[in-house]
Amino acid sequence: MGKIVIIGGGLAGLAAAYRLSDEHQVTVVEKDNALGGMAQSYHIDEHTDGHIDNQTDNHTDDYYIEKYYHHFFSSDTELMGLIDELGLAERLQWVKGTTGYYWSGRAYPMNTPLEILKFPPMSMLDIFRLGLLVLRTKLVRDVRSYDDITAGEWILKTAGSGVYNNFFQPLLNSKFGSNADRVSAAWLLGRVKIRSDRGAEGERLGYMKGGFHHLIAALADSIRERGGRIITGNGAREILMEGGRVSGVRLEEGSLSCDAVISTVPPLTLASLVEPGIPGFDPSAIHYQGTCCALLGMSRPLMMDGTYWLNIKADVPFGALIEHTNFMPTSDYAGEHLLYIASYFQDHDDPLYTKSEEEVIGMFLDGLEKLYPEFDRSAVLWWELGRDAQTAPVYETGYAERILPYRTGVDGLYLAGMFSEANYPERSMNGSVRAGYEAADAVVRDV
Ligand SMILES: Cc1cc2nc3c(=O)[nH]c(=O)nc-3n(C[C@H](O)[C@H](O)[C@H](O)COP(=O)(O)OP(=O)(O)OC[C@H]3O[C@@H](n4cnc5c(N)ncnc54)[C@H](O)[C@@H]3O)c2cc1C
Repeated sequence: MGKIVIIGGGLAGLAAAYRLSDEHQVTVVEKDNALGGMAQSYHIDEHTDGHIDNQTDNHTDDYYIEKYYHHFFSSDTELMGLIDELGLAERLQWVKGTTGYYWSGRAYPMNTPLEILKFPPMSMLDIFRLGLLVLRTKLVRDVRSYDDITAGEWILKTAGSGVYNNFFQPLLNSKFGSNADRVSAAWLLGRVKIRSDRGAEGERLGYMKGGFHHLIAALADSIRERGGRIITGNGAREILMEGGRVSGVRLEEGSLSCDAVISTVPPLTLASLVEPGIPGFDPSAIHYQGTCCALLGMSRPLMMDGTYWLNIKADVPFGALIEHTNFMPTSDYAGEHLLYIASYFQDHDDPLYTKSEEEVIGMFLDGLEKLYPEFDRSAVLWWELGRDAQTAPVYETGYAERILPYRTGVDGLYLAGMFSEANYPERSMNGSVRAGYEAADAVVRDV
């Protein structure tokens, strides 16, 4: 039996701990008070001062809702397997997630081939070329061979400027901002492959009734039942070495001795934990982008046509609106309508990161009024703002060469997370579960 410390209580860390805790003495260390990382949830019961709150006393039920919008796909086998193993299969739901595109003053539905045919900025020839691009993508077996060409170059070459300018460029800009021109075709192909896997009726997306909070909670329970320990609100400060191999972890408070460490934190954070560094490891090789995401609890829906996911081409400080309760019923959320306002940022000096929460919410509400003149602020019962500077690697050209291995050059130090092979060419909950399993298997082979 080995003593293993896992740094990070997101899905990668919890999946690794779940895999190891039967046979080994496992401790998960999480700096936040709550587990879940990017898949963490808000517990909505009463709302704090400073947030818009017209109806504090009207809450009868409490509920959990993800800080950042989440769903999954039918190809996410490790995630579904884990949900099943934890006895949560009855919570799995496959629901039609309707999408739309806001362009030139109105939202257009984009779910069926017929609806896409009616999207005004695209000519018939563009639509035909878009269809060919999707077909071509489906035939690609290994997207990695498209890692060295940018998404923009590949779209222009494959489908022409009409498809690029009117369809893909606004999406790339809203997802990657100033880094949009550097994103690889491998990332794009991965996304198109997964998103075009839909019937004539549109796409079905996976969700867990009551939210992914249930998955995180069940994982934590199962780890504890098997003898594992979970420490929250006490982050790792340093990975300790003795004779060139890992010997322990110093925490904000106290320290732990161990035979092996699995780190699931982003590369720049990891670099700050290891002195004098990890041989062959360049923490700046993988760039991360940040997310600024508001969640509004409302008394009325915003998108009355039932759209779940709306991509936006307009002069507003966000790139997508995700109306969660156009996907899941309001009865799961005490009758409240839930709307995410999503935006990504590339630099730490972006106003979305530097301005106060109230200012950002003000900017977002101004944007909503611009897109939907009938939107009434008094419908907003409460809000939360989630901001994090390291929420996803930017999958730029050449990224495949920089993927971090599960085993490092330091004896006893293993890695799993959004930067792992399992999360290429896009990070996901499934990818992080798989990365956690892979790192755990590497530990088992070595310890
Ligand atoms: C806006 C957004 C939307 C998304 N939507 C989807 C979706 O629809 N479907 C999907 O499948 N995936 C989605 N994802 C991706 C998914 O959430 C992530 O890929 C996955 O949850 C990452 O898990 P992880 O454990 O690898 O990393 P993280 O969740 O980042 O976990 C790392 C953990 O380490 C902790 N930590 C950091 N430093 C320290 C320290 N010094 N000591 C201790 N702990 C530390 C962090 O607090 C965190 O809990 C989305 C992500 C975002 C941001």
